[in-house]
Amino acid sequence: STMRADRLKAVRPSMILGLVQKARQLKADGHPVIDLGIGEPDFETPQHVKDAAIKAIGNNETRYTIVPGTPAVRRAIIEKLERENRLIYRQDEISVSGGAKQVIYNAMASTLSPGDEVIIPAPYWSSYPDIVAIAEGRPVVVDCPQSQGFLISPEQLEKAITPLTKWLILNSPSNPTGGVYGSDHLEALADVLRCHPHVHILSDDIYEHLMFDGRCFTSLLNVAPDLKDRTLIVNGVSKAFAMTGWRIGYGAGPEDIVAAMNVVQGQSCTHACSISQAAAAAALSGPVDFFVERAARFQDRRDGVVAALNAIDGIDCLTPEGAFYVYPDCSGLIGMRTAAGRVLTSDTDICAWLLDEHHVSAVPGAAFGLSPHLRISTAACTDDLETACGRIAAACAELE
Ligand code: PLP
Repeated sequence: STMRADRLKAVRPSMILGLVQKARQLKADGHPVIDLGIGEPDFETPQHVKDAAIKAIGNNETRYTIVPGTPAVRRAIIEKLERENRLIYRQDEISVSGGAKQVIYNAMASTLSPGDEVIIPAPYWSSYPDIVAIAEGRPVVVDCPQSQGFLISPEQLEKAITPLTKWLILNSPSNPTGGVYGSDHLEALADVLRCHPHVHILSDDIYEHLMFDGRCFTSLLNVAPDLKDRTLIVNGVSKAFAMTGWRIGYGAGPEDIVAAMNVVQGQSCTHACSISQAAAAAALSGPVDFFVERAARFQDRRDGVVAALNAIDGIDCLTPEGAFYVYPDCSGLIGMRTAAGRVLTSDTDICAWLLDEHHVSAVPGAAFGLSPHLRISTAACTDDLETACGRIAAACAELE
């Protein structure tokens, strides 16, 4: 409509939300839909975290807090970063927002001038390029296909950097691929970044606790502490503590960037919900022994799904090293004809067909900037995952 600002023109409508809606509608109409489209942990917020929120309400922690977050939650974040990541921050280097998404939004809105470039390796979490677009920056998408493990190489990074580059966004473990940057790879990227001191790094570590096969999470700053003055660490409680609805994320970075982010926050939401801040403080300073058991559970599911998908002709699935997604290549299905005579010309087509006719919801690679792929979330029970893979196999067996 004519009311829409020009800066929204570069923002694509969310394919994921569209699919989620369609899957929910089919379910409401009585179809046995299995939804593997959503990126949400399938367990509950820990009881002690719920209790802390109830206590905060009782204590009347129900008023405005300061913009960057209460001293208590920022203390818990600082202690977490030191304990788990061996990174040292001060209070004025931490900003707490309504989810990691808002942290990223604040960072882009407060640092990008029109035309500034942000390097985004594809496949990417769909929100990165759209947030950059709203902030009037220019997403510079770098294709990182399955053959390179979906990771950006140092050579690709070097080639993508221009004088206009403001940020590189790194996400490890990755949504949508489960790809993980190991220390050697990070060191090689750091070598490139050292030659370009104007480039800042946004490190989205939200899946750090979902690492498989005994791997340990490594942050860019663990291997290149000299990059600390131009790195913003982004993290939150959504995925680690099953707190997606509480909306708490945080950024840790140089004081000037964090102060700029607080300017945007101060004139948008003012601060994250006071009760959620208290809950997040309890989560971050409470027991985390369940992390290991949960990662093992997600690893089992990953193993089952990867094996089931690789047994299907036309599908080729890499084994993710973290997070709760698999991102199989489905190029072998392109051009095939379904039993109903529909020709599958894209991954978007394949997802529509799987949902409409076989009641399995997955997200097309098109949403993440690398096709033809499917993103399948393993944040579902094993029974559902087995049934869904069985349906995909049966569906593909009918193709000609
Ligand atoms: N970063 C990545 C890579 C994600 O996958 C998500 C959620 O899907 C987020 C950030 C945002 O998390 P939240 O805003 O719930 O903290």
